[in-house]
Amino acid sequence: MNISERTTIAAISTAMSTSGIGIVRMSGEEAFAIADSVYQGKKEKRLKDQKSHTIHYGYIKDGEETIDEVLVMLMRGPHSYTGEDTVEINCHGGVYVVKRILELLIKKGARPAGPGEFTKRAFLNGRMDLSQAEAVGDLIASKNEYALQSSVSQLKGNIKKKISDIRNKIIYHTAFIESALDDPEHISVDGYGEKLEGSVREMIEDLSLLISSSDNGRILKEGINTVIVGKPNVGKSSLLNVLIGEERAIVTDIAGTTRDVLEEHINLQGISLNIMDTAGIRETSDVVEKIGVDRAREFAEKADLVIHVIDSSAALDENDREIFQMLSGKKSVILLNKSDLEQKVTEEIVKKEYFASIPAKYKNEIEEKNQKIPEIIGISAKNRQGIQTLEETLKNMFFEGNLSFNDEIYITNVRQKAALQDAKEALLQVLESIRNGMPEDFYSIDLMAAYEALGSITGETIGEDLVNEIFSKFCMGK
Ligand code: GDP
Ligand code: ZN
Repeated sequence: MNISERTTIAAISTAMSTSGIGIVRMSGEEAFAIADSVYQGKKEKRLKDQKSHTIHYGYIKDGEETIDEVLVMLMRGPHSYTGEDTVEINCHGGVYVVKRILELLIKKGARPAGPGEFTKRAFLNGRMDLSQAEAVGDLIASKNEYALQSSVSQLKGNIKKKISDIRNKIIYHTAFIESALDDPEHISVDGYGEKLEGSVREMIEDLSLLISSSDNGRILKEGINTVIVGKPNVGKSSLLNVLIGEERAIVTDIAGTTRDVLEEHINLQGISLNIMDTAGIRETSDVVEKIGVDRAREFAEKADLVIHVIDSSAALDENDREIFQMLSGKKSVILLNKSDLEQKVTEEIVKKEYFASIPAKYKNEIEEKNQKIPEIIGISAKNRQGIQTLEETLKNMFFEGNLSFNDEIYITNVRQKAALQDAKEALLQVLESIRNGMPEDFYSIDLMAAYEALGSITGETIGEDLVNEIFSKFCMGK
């Protein structure tokens, strides 16, 4: 048999390092038989005759050669992660040993598993839905505690539940409409549009909430994309160093020497910041620095957060005003650095200048909608003062101090977000059809489009459950 056609897959499930133990996992029809061909227990026993969920001590042997002393864990399908017969060989963790064991299993008929293949099988065998399968991937890639918890929540099926609730409502309406069209004598759609409209509005609201959670979700998963901007020599690199806690960025006395954009990932009270230090923003004729400056502008535009550093020991100038203008409408904080020196710039001055610099549009928003101007925090990167306040401010800005995962669901996945948007679009279309007095079968087309889009999140197929629903709820057989 060609190796790619083999149905039993095997892989090393632990990190490839000299850790305490290593685990080689194997899943598929032949898993027990292949394990038996390399396993030797104390007594004459065959793994395939043993009960599920048992652990067996013994040796892995390649012919006469003993490779390692191991514990073998057996899980019979469907009661395993993948839903198939699964064997986990716990061995001593050396890279060499785990690789030898994997090679041996392949020699005996297993196939090396592709990335995520165990989880894919779990999905295909109905052990989890697609959002849960994706959560497994995210879980492994989690960069911080919150991202981890978010994946765990998704893995537990929270998204699945939310999506299923909405889908159930949609199917109910569709089934009703379809039934009524099939059997107009007994079921009437008169006045149904109104009922449908209210329900669709609710669903759209739910979807909008989920969609807007995706920004926070991405931030949780990937970190807050942050740029530090400011004129040369105000202390951007020094601040970055303080936040990182080491001398990574080059700190110099010569204005304009941080030419390349550095990116650092830091964990700040549980949230990841991806911080970019950029070349100082100022009007410059220096070509090399100009490139850096343009990039800084570009990054600032895309960033989730902009940190504007000002040297408070020197008066503000045109460059600062230009940055204020650039910041308007963005999530930002203004840091008055060098608070250890004699102060020329105060919070009051910054507020005044900020207001004078931003476009009228933002001024109105701030005045009328009671929006806040950026927080202004005095710090000294040199003496490490004000850093705690900065960290707390940032955390509050993004999560308002109540980051909880018990009942909130964060969509962290681009594919899921796109599907949610498709579903919302389709439901908006339903509203439109109701408003325009279109015939009922128009509703069901868009309802089904929403249903399908949502189904792609959980990976469910549409055909069968639609049919089942219609028959179970409306018994049309009379
Ligand atoms: P950048 O060009 O904005 O990245 O500025 P740097 O971080 O390279 O700092 C420029 C100069 O300002 C260096 O000499 C720093 O030591 C100094 N500096 C940075 N922060 C402070 C501070 O809080 N207080 C004082 N007195 N000097 C600082
Ligand atoms: Zn710098």
